[in-house]
Formats: sequence, C-alpha cells, structure tokens
Amino acid sequence: MALEPLIYELSSPGRCGVHLPGLDVPASELPAALLRTELDLPEVSEVDVIRHYLRLSQLNYGIDKGFYPLGSCTMKYNPKVNEDAARLPGFAALHPLLDIEDAQGALMLMYHTQEWLAELSGMKGVSLQPAAGAQGEFAGILMIRKYHLSRGDTKRTRILVPNSAHGTNPATVSMAGYEAVELPSDENGDVDLDALLAACDDTVAGMMITVPSTLGLFEARLPDVIKAVHDCGGLMYMDGANMNAMMGVLKPGELGFDVMHYNLHKTFSTPHGGGGPGSGPVAVNEKLLPFLPGPIVGILEDAGSLDDVPLFGWVMPEQSIGRLKAFHGNFGIIVRAFTYMRMNGGSGLHDVSRYAVLNANYVRTALRDHYVVPHDRTCGHEVVLEGHWKDVPGIHALDISKRLMDYNFHPPTNYFPLIVPEALMIEPTETESKETLDAFIEAMKNIAREAHENPELLLEAPHITPVGRVDDVLAAKQLVLCCVPIPDWAGSPEFKTSTD
Ligand SMILES: *Cc1c(COP(=O)(O)O)cnc(C)c1O
Repeated sequence: MALEPLIYELSSPGRCGVHLPGLDVPASELPAALLRTELDLPEVSEVDVIRHYLRLSQLNYGIDKGFYPLGSCTMKYNPKVNEDAARLPGFAALHPLLDIEDAQGALMLMYHTQEWLAELSGMKGVSLQPAAGAQGEFAGILMIRKYHLSRGDTKRTRILVPNSAHGTNPATVSMAGYEAVELPSDENGDVDLDALLAACDDTVAGMMITVPSTLGLFEARLPDVIKAVHDCGGLMYMDGANMNAMMGVLKPGELGFDVMHYNLHKTFSTPHGGGGPGSGPVAVNEKLLPFLPGPIVGILEDAGSLDDVPLFGWVMPEQSIGRLKAFHGNFGIIVRAFTYMRMNGGSGLHDVSRYAVLNANYVRTALRDHYVVPHDRTCGHEVVLEGHWKDVPGIHALDISKRLMDYNFHPPTNYFPLIVPEALMIEPTETESKETLDAFIEAMKNIAREAHENPELLLEAPHITPVGRVDDVLAAKQLVLCCVPIPDWAGSPEFKTSTD
C-alpha cells in the first residue's frame, strides 16, 4: 500500500482553509518579541485538512473497526449510549467545586455506582477515587498497610505475589514500601500451595492474586490459598481486572477477599487504550471500610418520604488513607460505566460474563489442535496459547501476531503472562458474534499452516499495513516523535515501510 502524502507535502503558498470573520475590535500590533518569524505551517484547503484527518483516523485500529482480542485488556464494544450519557451538559460541564446542593444528580449517580460495585463484589464499601487499575492496587495495599499499623502490628513487611501476576502487582507492592515475594505456579497453572504455606508467617501483610488468573484459569484451590494467608494474619487482595469472567457468578467478598479493584474501563465498556483515562474503584470488606480513600459519596440526610430523594454529599472515612486524585475520580468514565450497568441490569451483567467465558472456551477448543494450549482446561474469559511450534523453531509469537494484522485482526497480547513461553493471550469478550469468532479461528488456523508451509509470510508480516515490520529495538533507542523532517537514518535498510 502506498503511503498517502503528508499534509506538509500538499501545502501550496497562499492556500487557506479558514476564513476569519472581519475585525469587530480595533486592530493592534502583536508583540514582535513573542512572534516566530519562521513558522513552517502547511497552507492547505479545508478539504485537504478533512481528508488528512479522516485518513489518519482510518489508519488507527480500534474496537469500532474490528475484532480486538487483546487479552487482559477486555476490549469489548463500547455502546454509544454511554457516550450520550457522558456528554449530557449537566454531567460534562459540571464544575468539581460546585456546592453539593447543585450537584445532586452527579452525586446520586456516583452513590449508585458505589452500590452496584459493592453488590457485584460482595463487599461493604467502595471508593471511586482511583484513576486506573494500578492506582486501585496502590490504594488497596496502602489500606492493608494502614490496617496492620492501626493494630500496632509493625512486623509485616512482605506481600506475596504469584509469578503469573500482572507487572503492576509487584510494582504496587514496592511502591507501598513492601517487599514482593514471588510465588511459583504448579503444573496446572495454579499457585503452588506448598510454596505458599512455606512463605506464610507473621511477616506477611497480605497477598495479591488475580481471579481468574492471568492464564485465564480459576485457581482450583482458591479457598485454601485465602485460608493460608488469613491464618497467618495477612489480608487478601484480589486484582479484579478479570471481573468480566465473574459478574453475577461469584462475589470476591463472599470468597473471603478483603479488598479488590475494578477496572471500569475494562469490565464496564468505557473506551480505553493509549493510556487512559480509566477508572479503578476499590471495594473493601468491613475490616478495611474505615481506611477507604476518600472522600466517598454518602447520604447526608435520609429522604423524608418515599417520594423524596435523600441528600447526597461527601464523606471522609474515619482513618482514610487520604485522597488519591484531584477532585472525585475520572467522573466521565464513572458515568459511562454506570450507564452500562443500568442498560444491562443485573441479569444482563450475568449474561455478559457467561458469554465472555463461553466465547473464550469456543476459541480454545477450536484452536487446541493447531496451537499448544499449555493448560487445556475450562478457562475463564480468556485463553493463553503458545505462539510457537517445536517443528518450526524460527517462528515466534510476534510473527503470528504480525501476520494476524494481514487478516485484519488486532493481535492478541504477546509474551504475557511471563510463565508461558511465547504466550499469546486471547480475550474475545462477549460482544463478538459467532461469525467473527469463526473468522478469527480460521485466520489462526491458516497462520498455523502458513508457519509450516511458508514461514517467510509470517516473518515478513504485516504486508498490508501502511508501515511494515518496524525495528522495535531501533525505535526504542532512537525515538522520533515528529514526522518531519525525515531523519537521515530513515532511508536505511532497518527502517522499512511497505513503499520500499
Ligand atoms: C489491566 C490490568 C491491570 C492494571 O490496570 P490499569 O487500569 O491498566 O492500570 C492490573 N492487573 C491486570 C490483571 C490487568 O489486566
């Protein structure tokens, strides 16, 4: 595919796409010292600009364009009604410093979001403050820390983390001032129970575990894991990034977890990728209720009658770990998530999880004869394959992913979890039709065949994208954030575009 001309190349002196209205104030000189004399802006017409930006938007792959099985990220379709709700002027233009009397609608929405998240988790209280899953983790571990310290228990310095964990888990542990103790997994992909028991003593502050795990698997002996940590006085943190597998099916609070975070931008369908904005509310049981980051939304005055609404306002939990975010969390994301929950209702959310799990198992069973599935048992909402074959050692997960782009699919997550060699982590989500899943499965089977018959096809992929295989190492070392002027090395063999 030929690269389209850059907007700079379309520039023609004197051409202009905007017509400013006539001056209705006296003209005055601009301060010359502040003006640049050489400003190389493209001179283009309106239609050039429109075509430029539309083309750019089409180069970008997104969930509105096609299947996006990026495991652990839950790239489900984002219903557009969420956007309508978030753009209501009463929400979108609300000032965060407004008196509570003038923000009752927003406070009520946040209050009910807290209630829904508490119900789905089986927990007692929720704070919407954290701006992402990682910040929810941080909040959770700070709460665990404050809980122990408030009891005068100062010898706990370690947090246990399975080796299948998302990188944010050990990072969180270190940031909160603890030592992360890595636990091995057994041959089934579960936490090695003997290693866990050996690690449990009175220096353990708690354990972080993802359910279902990053292998997409439900820990077979989760109750034993929870009991072991509780028995030595530690608290249990559930990384809730994978809640899309469990809504209405299983409540972390009832399993015995003390604290968890949600990723509203994953489970509750708000657009994400490219770094945000997200939202990572934390939910806690009774033990941690006083420590929630705040302020949270509470009822300040009960309603007088059934026809009345209560007065909502801000409440700071007694021994709160404090604020985590300016103002009140990423409110726009909370509106979208609330809309999604209300549009689905309780039984709808239950269906979401059932279909997410069904779809992942459909993909797993269809591909198990073509790829190595390291833990081939009923999975949750995602399945992890090995992206290589013993008989074609030159092919890696990366090559399979790049080739998938030629079939117009976004690649799955590569090389995570770390405990599976050449991992390909596929999360179809519930919003894909059987036809889409079948097309993806077909593409994956084709690629497995190509890998054996014509491996060059994979090694040189992608073939149809505007920019072909890039040199990741060079890109990281020589970061170029501007497309003009073209740097000297761009013509070198390492910098390959498909126009070459
Ligand atoms: C996405 C994810 C996180 C981190 O969440 P962010 O919202 O990206 O900060 C943590 N753990 C797991 C398992 C995840 O998939």
